Amino acid sequence: MANVVVIGAGMGGMACAARLASKGHAVTVLEHNETWGGKLGVVSHDGHVFDTGPSLLTLPAVYRDLFLKTGGALEDSIELVDLETAFRYQFADGTVLKMPGVGIGRCAEAIGDALGGESALQWREFMRRAAKMWAVTRKPFLESELHGMKSLVSMSWRIGDLRTISPTKTLREMAQHYISDPRLLTLVDRYATYTGSDPRRAPAALATVPYVEQMFGAYHVSGGLRELGRALYQRAIDLGVTFEFSSTVENIATEPKVSGVTLVGGRFVSADIVVANADASLVYGSLISATAQQQTKPARTALAKSTPSLSGFSILVAANGKTPDFEHHNVFFPQNYDAEFESVFGYTSKAKPVADPTIYICSPSDSKMTPDGKESWFLLVNAPRHDAAGGMDWNQPGLKENYADQILQTLAARGVDVTNRITWQAASSPADLERNTMAPGGSIYGTSSNGMRSAFLRPENVTKIPNLYLVGGSSHPGGGLPLVGMSAEIVANHIGRA
Ligand SMILES: Cc1cc2nc3c(=O)[nH]c(=O)nc-3n(C[C@H](O)[C@H](O)[C@H](O)COP(=O)(O)OP(=O)(O)OC[C@H]3O[C@@H](n4cnc5c(N)ncnc54)[C@H](O)[C@@H]3O)c2cc1C
Repeated sequence: MANVVVIGAGMGGMACAARLASKGHAVTVLEHNETWGGKLGVVSHDGHVFDTGPSLLTLPAVYRDLFLKTGGALEDSIELVDLETAFRYQFADGTVLKMPGVGIGRCAEAIGDALGGESALQWREFMRRAAKMWAVTRKPFLESELHGMKSLVSMSWRIGDLRTISPTKTLREMAQHYISDPRLLTLVDRYATYTGSDPRRAPAALATVPYVEQMFGAYHVSGGLRELGRALYQRAIDLGVTFEFSSTVENIATEPKVSGVTLVGGRFVSADIVVANADASLVYGSLISATAQQQTKPARTALAKSTPSLSGFSILVAANGKTPDFEHHNVFFPQNYDAEFESVFGYTSKAKPVADPTIYICSPSDSKMTPDGKESWFLLVNAPRHDAAGGMDWNQPGLKENYADQILQTLAARGVDVTNRITWQAASSPADLERNTMAPGGSIYGTSSNGMRSAFLRPENVTKIPNLYLVGGSSHPGGGLPLVGMSAEIVANHIGRA
């Protein structure tokens, strides 16, 4: 049996802790915050409950496997809700597309109804290609350890696989090969943002994101997504995992070998193995010694070459009444989507808040979250990360409040004016996200998928320092609840049984 310390009680940290405890290890989770969950946050106000992080669970098989392997079925702990309409998309020309919850055929039909029969046929073809991509990438890329560019080279003899993935094409280029309607292209673009990326730079393989959503479903969790975290926390407790909150790790002892961590305040917690759920850039940048940094130079160099993922600006809105023709998930697209990516990533000038952003609103049709006759909105727009040293400084006085007003006005111009029904609202900027989750700059997904080599630049789960591991959205295979769950499985399998 090994003594394992996990740094951080995000979903990756808790999933790994539960898996390791079920393999017979003694596990302690040290968390900076007063509670578990990390980005999977919640805010409650006067009967309204708001998920402040994830609002959509895809690929539930990852969590089904985690729960089954650690003691009991996921559905015994939480209720997954399969929404009849997964998304209401409204394009700049006013066209509305209501996408069903699961089933590529049903989704193609809905696309046909909204955008015409040609688009339905094109979507089916695009999804057929995405299905092949999924078959080729799932096992070797997502569910396995990745070893930088070596992994790509070792795959290169499978010419057929490479052709399927089209590693030199972007998501935008791949979509344009199949799809002609600009509205449907806009919809595909949006899936790049699910990994915090720009569709004009992210690889074609991200076509698997809509495929997974439509093939395996997009779920709500009764009571809110935070309930998934609660169930996982309880599972870890049941398995004997110890949690210490308000415990910030400031150093990992790695010389002559991993022996534990030092907390802010000086207490040393000994460990044979350390699993870091903290952001990989923090681990490599400030939690290990200069000698260990030297030892991990290739990983740090790769990380420096990556583009950090985009961040998010959110507004929680409690409102009286009901918005007509509204669904659980609603997306309002702007006229010029490219301008959004220019603002967020700041290619030609300094990154700045998006003037006319895509607006996403989760308005849960869930009585545990929304009082009768009212609405509990989680509104999110893409935003540049917080960078007070020369980039976008989200701490400027008044900026948050003004930008929140601007977004609500933009929404009103797109047909939904909630302003005179609001009973309470609270905005959160990328700087707040950084403060609340310890994610540098408030990046939602660690590093983005911008660039053809991005997947191979992402930090590996097994570091060059024996017995030091990385788990969670800033390491392989990336961010989002399913991938974070996969990273926990990779790490737990590598460590093995006690
Ligand atoms: C606004 C928003 C919307 C999102 N929407 C979705 C969605 O709809 N669907 C989806 O699948 N995903 C979504 N995501 C992404 C998803 O939330 C994340 O990928 C996932 O929750 C990250 O989990 P993680 O394990 O990487 O840990 P994190 O949640 O990043 O947690 C890391 C934890 O480590 C702690 N920590 C860091 N450093 C230290 C230290 N030195 N000492 C002690 N503790 C430390 C932090 O306090 C934190 O609790 C969203 C995220 C955000 C922010």
